[in-house]
Amino acid sequence: MNKVILLHKRPVGKPALSDFKFAIEEDPVADEGELLLKTLYVSVDPYLRGRMSDSKSYVPPFQLNKPIQSGIIAEVIRSNHTDFKIGNFVSGNLEWKEYQISVGSGLTKINDSADNLSKYLGILGMTGLTAYCGLTEIGDPKAGETIVVSGAAGAVGSVVGQIGKILGCRVVGITGADEKVDLLKSKFHFDQAINYKTAGNLKEAIGNACPAGVDVYFDNVGGEISDAVLANINKYARIPLCGAISLYNETKPPVGPRIQSVLLVKSSLMRGFIVSDFSDKFPAAIKQLASWLKEGKLTYAETIVEGFDHIPQAFLDLFEGKNEGKMIVKI
Ligand code: NDP
Repeated sequence: MNKVILLHKRPVGKPALSDFKFAIEEDPVADEGELLLKTLYVSVDPYLRGRMSDSKSYVPPFQLNKPIQSGIIAEVIRSNHTDFKIGNFVSGNLEWKEYQISVGSGLTKINDSADNLSKYLGILGMTGLTAYCGLTEIGDPKAGETIVVSGAAGAVGSVVGQIGKILGCRVVGITGADEKVDLLKSKFHFDQAINYKTAGNLKEAIGNACPAGVDVYFDNVGGEISDAVLANINKYARIPLCGAISLYNETKPPVGPRIQSVLLVKSSLMRGFIVSDFSDKFPAAIKQLASWLKEGKLTYAETIVEGFDHIPQAFLDLFEGKNEGKMIVKI
């Protein structure tokens, strides 16, 4: 029998385990032109929170009592499809099921060994692409400039900071734990890192860490942390607006400082983006990320949780900051 995870209720505020439901279905069987996939690794991502609500966005909401979907790496264990063989590894936006049927559309083959697959959900997958495209296309950093990144020890943030260093910038990270501050400096070679939970006056702390001001702010979190960074931007600053995790569980979004005057007097650009906006850049971006990885210029962290039953908890833990680097569930 096949285990499946469904959306049981639409969360109000912070999501909870009771918003998910485990179900059992008959073992799926692949017909002509179909594949049977075995789930190996599941990506849990903050954006899934948005899809759990019934609001219009860039992707349709999940449906109640239907399986949740996310980035998944799977193995082909039966194939009635000419393009795929048993033993192929694939990635795609798939359902939270132990086994599932696919007709092959939307799947990408992964030519790598079985113990090397999880990175295709992170550094060589969606979050690596988000970091690369958001920073280079909108942030447009120049050597010698100062980049600040929030959510710095997470999947996207840790890659943004490292790319900033490769491009010759001064990089300052903002994160929520002292161990993550250490990780940013030791493993990812950030110049400075700030714990927003203990820094006190964050605006001042950022000012001290960025004596020449902030030229690029890669915003992963929004809210008060971003207010404090915006108070330190230089003229012509660029602000890729990647995420706003601090606001995703708010039932009534808080009102902060109005930012128009800041952007106006600093002649600055703030631009929201969805990684798929840059899909034409993906092949070149993956090539560059893979080459930096091979050369040892780029590294990555993963928090791997084991077991299909733990997928919902791993997702909830993103909102508690329990991950370093990419949060992944190994089945
Ligand atoms: P992360 O790996 O960064 O995980 C989430 C992290 O967010 C946590 O570890 C935690 O770190 C931090 N966090 C949680 N709650 C809060 C809060 N209230 N205030 C501040 N920080 C908080 O996730 P990703 O790297 O996958 O995603 C980072 C951001 O980028 C998210 O906002 C996500 O939605 C967005 N995103 C956008 C994409 C796009 O196409 N625009 C694509 C992918 C991601 P800490 O301990 O430091 O608080």
